Amino acid sequence: MKVFIACLGTETNTFVPFPTGRRNFEENGVFHGDATRHTPNLFSAPLHVWRRRAETRGWTVVESLFAFAQPAGVTVRAVYEGYRDEILADLEKALPVDIVLLSMHGAMVADGYDDCEGDLLSRVRALAGPRAIIGGELDLHCHITTAMITQADVLVTFKEYPHIDMAERAEELFTLCADAAEGKTRPVMAVYDCRMVGMYRTPVEPMKSFVARMQALEGKDGVLSVSLGHGFPWGDVAEVGTQSLVVADGDAAKAAAVARQLGQELFAMRDSTLVTYWQPDDAVADAESAQAGRPVVLADVADNAGGGSPSDSTFVLEALLRRDYKGALIGLLWDPVAFQIAEEAGEGATLDMRIGGKCGPISGQPVDLRVTVKKLAYDCRQSFGPTKNGTGNLAWLQADGIDIVINTRRTQLFHPDAFAPLGLDPARYRLIVVKSSQHFYAGFAPLASKVHYVTTHGGIEPDFANIRHTKRTVPYWPRVADPFTGQNA
Ligand SMILES: [Zn+2]
Repeated sequence: MKVFIACLGTETNTFVPFPTGRRNFEENGVFHGDATRHTPNLFSAPLHVWRRRAETRGWTVVESLFAFAQPAGVTVRAVYEGYRDEILADLEKALPVDIVLLSMHGAMVADGYDDCEGDLLSRVRALAGPRAIIGGELDLHCHITTAMITQADVLVTFKEYPHIDMAERAEELFTLCADAAEGKTRPVMAVYDCRMVGMYRTPVEPMKSFVARMQALEGKDGVLSVSLGHGFPWGDVAEVGTQSLVVADGDAAKAAAVARQLGQELFAMRDSTLVTYWQPDDAVADAESAQAGRPVVLADVADNAGGGSPSDSTFVLEALLRRDYKGALIGLLWDPVAFQIAEEAGEGATLDMRIGGKCGPISGQPVDLRVTVKKLAYDCRQSFGPTKNGTGNLAWLQADGIDIVINTRRTQLFHPDAFAPLGLDPARYRLIVVKSSQHFYAGFAPLASKVHYVTTHGGIEPDFANIRHTKRTVPYWPRVADPFTGQNA
């Protein structure tokens, strides 16, 4: 057997003003066939799994491109086409292949391409031929399109948010595709549109039990795999929204029935999936009243770089300053210009500095502070599950009793160890503000006395009824109360 593996993806926020270009990809490391010789990150981890599994069986592996960008606005057309065509050229050289395994995000939009994954899968199918088994691993924040479903044999999404199961899903996809290539199974897929747009956090109920029920259905009665594509709400594409996806063994009706059953189950419990969001001032006030001991964690969800936000908004920082809150840690705030000034001034310097607020209204206003440069650190990393992910250079700035950590590489905050290069221990703070929607949770929840999700007018404001979608024609909750009957909210 010959297995062809590659990764191309990003999660495109079509509403933010700054594009996804070559630099966004290169910051994560672009590898031309040798990603598996480097330390795995979130989206290269599947390539490592697939190579190991294939080589264990004595199969031939052809590794192509790894290119995955930090989410931002619409991808530059030439950048998408260049990476896509590199994968296609490698595939053409490798032909014939038995299995193609692609690590993709599932929500990539490029100028001229609303469905990059569907485009890539269609071209891969055209080259590899009808008998090759084509599998894709997707982030659960994906748009599952007709092109994707018809061109791939097996699609599997992450089940967990935070995405702690990317390696497990890679194992699962390999097994499913290997079985199909060996003729043991004949996978068929079906999706069901839940007519919902939202975010669903799987460590807590009711989603925790829902994930367990999905897993319980797998491997019996002809059901090979069950996924829930949560959807990425800030993509203006026709298929935006939540979809259940089932792979069955040769039985399309079975796949459709299980997808419908799960989708209707999720729809029925839609109200209980809602998260309470705090306004910044209320959340800070609540933290003031918290007992000393373990910190309160405020998640600045709307400024999560992982959803394409700038990660430089000042809405929560301003709330801290307004309330004269002492003893808070806030990060990671993306501000390469401020870093450059801090570096020039040097550790120990005190100076006036303008921080954040640089990418338009979603960043809020820049904040002028007198800061002391406490420490600088270079080429830093943070953990996400077993992977290490770059944060760039860091500066610890202290102002008005607040420790602000700025960085040079736009990324969300995953883990408390992001602060370690500066010698900062998040556990000793009363309040920590993390710029992340949910991926922070696995690392920070164990040290927090409580976690508050805070909403602002940032790049991914969680106001799902009012996102300015123009391409989805089918109604969805919560814009209408019951999109299946047309009842208005
Ligand atoms: Zn995701």
